[in-house]
Amino acid sequence: MGTTYEERRGTLYNYRITLYGNALAWLIHVVFFVTFLRLDVMLLAWSNVASVLYYTISFYFVHKRYYRTFFVGLFVEVVYNAVISTIVLGWDANVHYFIIMVAYGVFFMPNVNRGARVATTGIAMAIYGSLYLFVSDGTEALAPAFEQALGLFCLLSTIGLIAGLSFIFEGSVVEVTNELEGTNERLHTLASRDGLTGLYNRLTGTSRIEEGVARAVQEGRPYAVALADIDHFKAFNELHGHDCGDLVLRRVATTLTWTDAVCVRWGGEEFLLFLAGETEADIDERLDELRIRIKSTETIYEGARLHVTMTIGVAHRDGKTLEAVERLVKEADDFLRTGKQAGKDRVISSIS
Ligand code: GH3
Ligand code: MG
Ligand code: MG
Repeated sequence: MGTTYEERRGTLYNYRITLYGNALAWLIHVVFFVTFLRLDVMLLAWSNVASVLYYTISFYFVHKRYYRTFFVGLFVEVVYNAVISTIVLGWDANVHYFIIMVAYGVFFMPNVNRGARVATTGIAMAIYGSLYLFVSDGTEALAPAFEQALGLFCLLSTIGLIAGLSFIFEGSVVEVTNELEGTNERLHTLASRDGLTGLYNRLTGTSRIEEGVARAVQEGRPYAVALADIDHFKAFNELHGHDCGDLVLRRVATTLTWTDAVCVRWGGEEFLLFLAGETEADIDERLDELRIRIKSTETIYEGARLHVTMTIGVAHRDGKTLEAVERLVKEADDFLRTGKQAGKDRVISSIS
């Protein structure tokens, strides 16, 4: 948290990676120093002393988490050493491959603009090209076996380092992708669900019901839209408080989702349901069971055991034709009003 995707692009700015990288570079140059000292190639021996000194100082950059300084230093040191080693040992020693490795790595450096990264990679490649054109034999003749061993070491370690860097970059892409997917999912939930009850909000609920209607018609099954409204809820709120009312709304929503109906929070204490069934009577029966279950659901609030009832208006269709959700809601609302006038706490439809 607190870091941007840009900063994390490549997890190169990382304490462990830079620490191990620095330690590895330090160790390699100690080995090179000893080797060139024994081979009496003094220019490279001293050059590697300078590199060892540099990487000793560079531990401080890692410790202080001056990652950009660390990578710039690494880039300059590697290119410098590759150039001087290629001039001294010749092209076939393969030390030049390290330039390709840093040119690749630098391109993915976090927090550096693309122009600067492309330019740095370009400079590294220009240096590489110049070495290719102008250096063939070195100034020092090495034993063929040593030159072969060094050539293989440089080639393999370059391939290994490029593979290692690729793993790091891939890891960061996966991490960022996972995070984006998570954010996407959260945004989708926020956009499609009601915050209090977790049921579908009006917009998403309408499309889910449209889909349900289409499916029911395809299967030729009767379907219905029901508008369920809590009875005397204004008085309930006034008596027990708004927080208690919210708690009841959540309990009612949970009970509604026990059915296989599509459940939508349509308004304050109004819920819209979509059901398909074998017959219209079967649908009404299921809604009545739901009404009874809600009525018997107890909400305990500050020691009091509370109950609410609901009136449910139902608009039926036989499943032969499509119907607009708006029309179904209007019809269900008319039945709901009739149910309220008739004394509430009931399911009311054209077949009641
Ligand atoms: P009826 O039996 O005819 O449905 O009467 P009612 O009081 O339930 O109906 P009315 O439409 O007059 O009042 C609805 C009340 O629902 C108004 C408001 O206090 C309450 N309400 C609406 N949304 C919320 C909410 O999100 N939380 C709480 N706690 N109450 C809400
Ligand atoms: Mg209402
Ligand atoms: Mg009400």
